Amino acid sequence: MALPHKISTLLYCFNPRDEILLLERAREPNRGQWSPAGGKLKTGSGESPYACACREAREELALELTPADLHFTGLVSEHGYLGQAHWLMFLFEVRPRLTTLPSPIREGRFAFFPRAELETLALPQTDREMLWPLFWQHRGGFFSAHCHIHADGRHEWTLEASSCPPHEAEWRRENEEGSDDHFMTEALRQARRAYAAAEVPVGAVVVRDGRVIGRAFNQVELLKDATAHAEMLALTQAQAAVGDWRLNDCTLYVTKEPCPMCAGAIVHARVGRVVFGASDPRAGAAGGVLNLLQVPTLPHRCQITAGVRQADCAGLLRQFFAEQRTRPRRADATLP
Ligand SMILES: [Zn+2]
Repeated sequence: MALPHKISTLLYCFNPRDEILLLERAREPNRGQWSPAGGKLKTGSGESPYACACREAREELALELTPADLHFTGLVSEHGYLGQAHWLMFLFEVRPRLTTLPSPIREGRFAFFPRAELETLALPQTDREMLWPLFWQHRGGFFSAHCHIHADGRHEWTLEASSCPPHEAEWRRENEEGSDDHFMTEALRQARRAYAAAEVPVGAVVVRDGRVIGRAFNQVELLKDATAHAEMLALTQAQAAVGDWRLNDCTLYVTKEPCPMCAGAIVHARVGRVVFGASDPRAGAAGGVLNLLQVPTLPHRCQITAGVRQADCAGLLRQFFAEQRTRPRRADATLP
């Protein structure tokens, strides 16, 4: 059966902090999922892909671009998408950085996200599995990929062209499995769950032998328990997993510097190493106000690594408290 060929452009825009602009789609397909801006090419008028990208930027982002502002990063063709059409997608990176968030449009609302947070978002399946990995790998370079969608639903991908710029290797090293960045991303994922539950957004994970054995987010409001900090809950889980209260060979990752209560619990549990994101100069007990993790007279002292993914961890807290100020009901929320 002959299917129509449809053509679209996708716009990969970034802000000065290198966060990517995504649109939460308000309509089907992909309703409720985040994807780059862009749209269909006007085939009737013979529009070029570059002209289409410039038009979409003007209509969706109020951005005046010329073709020189676009880097053509990737060409993706899909054979038999949903059994309805073949698709050709032109992926462009917009070179000028966006300094303000575009207003919502009929198709949905916009937000900026750091790259590492993408995995925590609702993304269309193909985007998550193929388009994003290909984009990051080839950002600044070029790729062409073809997807043959078989009648049984199987997706068969072929990478037809690929030229990667060197910066990608660096990013991968920093984010490879087992790195502090990697596990802090896990803790951030927990913090975002706290945020979604209207709790102060702090998340923690406990890692042993490269494996997460405890993960939790702050649940003071949910449990109506002032001690239900992310670290306390994650430690309890880890102790249950190990079958021992001693966690000498474990590392605790937490998005915010531990408070005195948690620092005390960390020392009691003999946690070998503590890695945190945002410092807390007002109440932090890992060097912020005091350092309970390394008191010479106590029977145990922890190694400390501070500032891992600091900007993301602190940004989430800042965002939460900025919103709290506009909602007086929970204005008494304090940092855990
Ligand atoms: Zn605490």
